[in-house]
Amino acid sequence: MLVVPVYNMILAPQSTLYFQTELLRQSAGGKGITVNEKVILIVAKENKQFNELTEDSFYPIGLSGVITDIGPQGYSVIKTVYRVNLSSIEIKPDHTIQLELSRRSDIDDLDSELEKEKLKNLLQEMKAYASGFEWAGSADYYIDQVDSIGTAACMMSPWLKISNEERYSILEEDSRAKRAELIEKTMYDFLEVGRITNEAVSSQQKEYQQMYRESAIKRQIEHLQKELDEMHPENVTDVQKFEQKIADSGMNDTARAESMKVLNRLRQEGKESVESGILYDYLDFMTSLSWKKQDAEHIDLEEARKILDEDHFGLKKVKDRIIQQIAVMNLKKQQSGSILLFVGAPGTGKTSIGKSIARALGREYVRVSLGGVHDESDIRGHRRTYIGAMPGRIMDGIQKSKVSNPVMVLDEVDKLSASYNGSPASALLEVLDPEQNNTFTDHYMNVPYDLSDVLFICTANTTDTIPEPLLNRMEVIQFTGYTPLEKLQIAKNHLVPKSMESMGIAPEQMEIDDDALESIISDYTMEAGVRGLRKHIDTLCRILAVKVSENPGDKVKVTKETVKSELDIRPMQHNKVLDSPKAGVVTGLAWTPVGGEILYIETLLTEGKGNLVITGQLGEVMQESAKIALSLVKSMFPEEAEILKDRDLHIHVPAGAVPKDGPSAGVALTTALASLLTGKTVDPHIAMTGEVALRGAVTPIGGLPEKLMAAQRAGITKVFIPAENEADLKDVAAEVKEKISICTVTSVSRILKEVGITNSNESDLAC
Ligand code: ADP
Repeated sequence: MLVVPVYNMILAPQSTLYFQTELLRQSAGGKGITVNEKVILIVAKENKQFNELTEDSFYPIGLSGVITDIGPQGYSVIKTVYRVNLSSIEIKPDHTIQLELSRRSDIDDLDSELEKEKLKNLLQEMKAYASGFEWAGSADYYIDQVDSIGTAACMMSPWLKISNEERYSILEEDSRAKRAELIEKTMYDFLEVGRITNEAVSSQQKEYQQMYRESAIKRQIEHLQKELDEMHPENVTDVQKFEQKIADSGMNDTARAESMKVLNRLRQEGKESVESGILYDYLDFMTSLSWKKQDAEHIDLEEARKILDEDHFGLKKVKDRIIQQIAVMNLKKQQSGSILLFVGAPGTGKTSIGKSIARALGREYVRVSLGGVHDESDIRGHRRTYIGAMPGRIMDGIQKSKVSNPVMVLDEVDKLSASYNGSPASALLEVLDPEQNNTFTDHYMNVPYDLSDVLFICTANTTDTIPEPLLNRMEVIQFTGYTPLEKLQIAKNHLVPKSMESMGIAPEQMEIDDDALESIISDYTMEAGVRGLRKHIDTLCRILAVKVSENPGDKVKVTKETVKSELDIRPMQHNKVLDSPKAGVVTGLAWTPVGGEILYIETLLTEGKGNLVITGQLGEVMQESAKIALSLVKSMFPEEAEILKDRDLHIHVPAGAVPKDGPSAGVALTTALASLLTGKTVDPHIAMTGEVALRGAVTPIGGLPEKLMAAQRAGITKVFIPAENEADLKDVAAEVKEKISICTVTSVSRILKEVGITNSNESDLAC
């Protein structure tokens, strides 16, 4: 009798088991085994090596059987017969096992017909399960050999996911019916789980198959379409063109996905649909943008300065700042840096120097005008749901530049205004914010675009109307305007040659005298910049182009007289200093967004009851200045002020159409009133600027360079300025400082003495 320990097997009487022959031999202590030899299978509680087994390692019920076949391929067949109770177990030194046992009978409660039925059903299920596998054919063969439910359980034993104890509990069961039920349950559980997994696997496989099929068909279509296109290039459709363009564009993934979505819509809609135009425009826009990044190039500073000097006369401070910026960009290997804001009067070269910077950097230039923009979508684009939707001005500019790193001049940022459609300034803030602008999303594009390589330069006439958060982002550089001498140089070296070239006049065909240019500058223009000057030069060149073309060999000379006779306009009269002084009239200086200006403060006493009348579009601040001036004068000249009791006082500042505000007219108002009350006149060639406090202290003002330049233009000889503004004189052109005597003062009484109204002896004056 051969005792064979088994582990993790389902054992049942009247079944067929397949066993490794080697295992049987081991159990026989290495001796041979023979057909018809009786076998007792006993179940180990744990999975142990043969030589580690002890008497306690086994469950108390085993199974008897007979070896019916010793197969050639290492497998032997055992037919099991009945269950046995083990009363003693002894393990011999050669590890063979000796047993004392008795037969354990079954409760015979299973109808044999029912058993057959059950077996039939189980085998059917097993076959159905196996049919999902490639080896279904050979599985069928084995399943057909199964002669009992127990055999089926044994056969499937290695795959069933139940524990050793559960397996043993089947053997332990005395009732045949219950044992069959236990086996069935285990088997059906296994088959059901298997079927569900199979279904999931096969549905996934179907999906994959479908996908492979689709992509294979697509490839095939593409291939065939390409061949067709090659045969008929005239038939290449928009869709294909865009497909190619999208592929070549270097777009980021989001942009590509959005473009492909629109392209598919275009494909479905067809050419005739209403929407196709919109879709076409979108794709055209997206594919004409530059998506590829350009590398930062090292810029030669010497060369850059040469270019800046070539294009613009003067502007040293601005050019120095730009060179510094280029140096920083070189060091950091970046393409952008601080955002510069050029502030100054029109025609002072703000925009054109932007173009020159682009030339110095060897980059594309694009100008975006923001004047009058009051809608957020002007900056950020309209959503594509609107008819006539288009990209915002920023992305439009990028598209025009055809690169991703242009020098972009945002012109007139002070002319932005908010409306109920959102604030364009806050959209602009996002454009200029280096933290955010690498993912700037235009509403029309609906995908982010990287603006971080764009070098932004903004221009404005004044910083007053620029919202604070926007202004904080930018570094302000003032363009103070040009002196007449500078204008002459600009005219000679830049404006005249450019104008002649644009009219097709060669340098040897025409010559404009310095006298003529000076006359245009002083008699026909009154501006901080050179825009008017350029216009007049253009007009002259155009008129004289007739003479040049009539006598191509001759050189046409343009003199002061030619200017007078050919320019069909009256020389400028206004803003010139008055010829004769009048009591109560004083020359003041004002700053406006279009440059400095001189203005006359006129005062007059009329019949009345001590009222103060103010005219000339004075802002609130200036009205207050007038009241302070009046109080100050009353306290300084109590006797003369008596007259005010039965008189009205009228203050007027001419050029009424120009709104005037700002606190800089205090000293001029005080002086004018003092002059009126005392009856002493002030030389109109003396001008003054400065705010005045209630006790007569002179406090600082802004825009000094522009004001002094305007004073010089108007022929002023002496100017009083607040002492605290002395530091600003470094920004004033030497030519201006030479021609005007500039006196710094700390109190208004000093001015009154200097202009001859009082005799006070304060000595704070420095000229
Ligand atoms: P802004 O933008 O300040 O209104 P622009 O840049 O349009 O002024 O300049 C007006 C014209 O004056 C341009 O043709 C420009 O070339 C010329 N210009 C201005 N400043 C200079 C200068 N310093 N040197 C040479 N040309 C100048």
